[in-house]
Amino acid sequence: MDHLGRREHTDRIRLGGSALPVVSPARLYVCGITPYDVTHLGHAGTFVWADAAAAVLRLAGAETLTCRNVTDVDDVLTHAAQRRGRHFDEFALEQEYLFGRDMAALRVRRPEYEPRARHHVGRVVQLALALLATDHAYQRDGAVYFRGADVPAKTGLTLEEATELAVEFGDRTEDLNREDPFDVPVWRPSTDDQPGWPSPWGRGRPGWHAECAAIALGVHGCAVDILAGGADLSFPHRAYQAAMVEAATGVGPFARAEFPVGTVTVDGAKMAKSGGNLVLVSDLLRSYPAAAVRLLLLNRPWRLSWEFRSEDIADQANRLDRLYSAAGRALTSRAATDALTAALVDDLDVPAALEIGEESGGDAARLVLRTLALE
Ligand code: ZN
Repeated sequence: MDHLGRREHTDRIRLGGSALPVVSPARLYVCGITPYDVTHLGHAGTFVWADAAAAVLRLAGAETLTCRNVTDVDDVLTHAAQRRGRHFDEFALEQEYLFGRDMAALRVRRPEYEPRARHHVGRVVQLALALLATDHAYQRDGAVYFRGADVPAKTGLTLEEATELAVEFGDRTEDLNREDPFDVPVWRPSTDDQPGWPSPWGRGRPGWHAECAAIALGVHGCAVDILAGGADLSFPHRAYQAAMVEAATGVGPFARAEFPVGTVTVDGAKMAKSGGNLVLVSDLLRSYPAAAVRLLLLNRPWRLSWEFRSEDIADQANRLDRLYSAAGRALTSRAATDALTAALVDDLDVPAALEIGEESGGDAARLVLRTLALE
């Protein structure tokens, strides 16, 4: 037992460069959706993989506690609702419902915690106060800025790369109120037509990175075991989330392991609303079995970006048929199930685990289908 009463296992799980002793309960933080648009395959890849990572932790003997936030206070959401003449809260709830329906179809387990940003605004104010008290932040004209000048260097990005990414994700690095271009808002003033809450600095709303920092602190405390999300959000989003929590608490690292899931491309371009190349989960599920779509997402190295081709789903459906046949064999093999478990805890090697399950058949095939929720 450690001092939190968590059971410690001898097993390790490897995730990329991190070999983690498995502790229980394992705390996962999954950066969730901004509910302003329906789920595309890129989102689905992140959440299906986070779900599979939790399943492998349970296979290794840990309990898991997953927190997947809903970013329902965000300018892109406010603008999308305004364009449709809708109130942003009502619009967000409708989008959340559609997202939940897609996740259920893909058999993504409901996280233990699904906090909405708007219920954690008080915690963002507390976070801002803690950062101000330790001089990791300063206030200017109703805003509170986090001092982020050293954040790009911690991620290994050059300043040019970091600037490009920050601008892509809407950080206004040219904002003259900032002392450094890499300072980011913890709190921002709101105009009358924007969502806003009272604060010591006037009516305003949280900054995006601060929302995830405050929610993670509120739900999981000072640190998490696995910090998951799309690879494209490693910087700025998760880098600032981690930096803010570490600065406020003095505890580091915020995450024992990072789990940046590879992005999906179509004809070589990242799948994104701005790219006009979205493949919607709900559309795919009209034509293909959900388990085949889930397998398409999982049957690859989790970290690498990959190209979507609809014809590949049929191959995965055939693969599933072969696995179902193999699972019907009355065979048990401790060596095969051990090898399969070893493949999954070694960086979630799904292709190797499928290979073992299909070749060995019987309980090994049933184990891989059950663990990856492909039955
Ligand atoms: Zn986040």
